[in-house]
Amino acid sequence: MTDNFNNHASEHYINDLFAAEDEALRFAREETARQGMPQIQIQPADGRLLHLLARACGAQRIVEIGTLGGYSGIWLARALPPQGRLYTLELEAKHAEVARRSFARAGVADRVDVIVGPALDNLASLSQDAPYDMVFIDADKGTYPAYLDWAMAHVRPGGIITAHNALRDGKVAAPQSDADRVVDGFNRTAAQDPRLEATIVAIGDGMLFAVVR
Ligand code: SAH
Ligand code: MG
Repeated sequence: MTDNFNNHASEHYINDLFAAEDEALRFAREETARQGMPQIQIQPADGRLLHLLARACGAQRIVEIGTLGGYSGIWLARALPPQGRLYTLELEAKHAEVARRSFARAGVADRVDVIVGPALDNLASLSQDAPYDMVFIDADKGTYPAYLDWAMAHVRPGGIITAHNALRDGKVAAPQSDADRVVDGFNRTAAQDPRLEATIVAIGDGMLFAVVR
């Protein structure tokens, strides 16, 4: 578990009641640790939220930016119908390899494409097959504004844009680093852009979510 809970007791309650991990989710989390990769995957309650947002908008095609070991990707892929597709973008080949194993364990490898390289380059290729039903942003914070621009241009009306670490441990309210300032600006864009209706759900490290008008 990472330490980005806002309220441990409440979040453990949510995790236990609504977001129990099965063997594949545990594998994704534990293998990420065993391989010495950063332990920065979303919390179970975040995963459950992503899963339900995908279900609520009837998502068939989802783009995830930042795969790590496939933990959040499992939650998203399991929300898809059998003919659905998750395109998940990851810079590090090693992370992508762990993620592929996680997806196989979870029984969703047939509906997931792990795409390795800088996400912005690969989003340009995915543009051809737009629109998408949902985008989940969870990679390098400095590029969040560009990822949001891409998502706003390529998610269908009624579709959903989500982003992890929207609160940055509360620091967005009084930014201390460049990354804090960029995410604050990202949140302000989501709040004000006429193409979106947005809010931040304050579980984990903050999950921004927006419906595209
Ligand atoms: N969504 C994952 C966690 C992602 S952590 C989960 O909750 O399970 C962020 C990931 O983004 C890391 O694996 C990192 O390698 C990747 N990343 C960083 N910069 C990137 C870039 N420019 N393009 C694609 N992936 C990037
Ligand atoms: Mg994150």
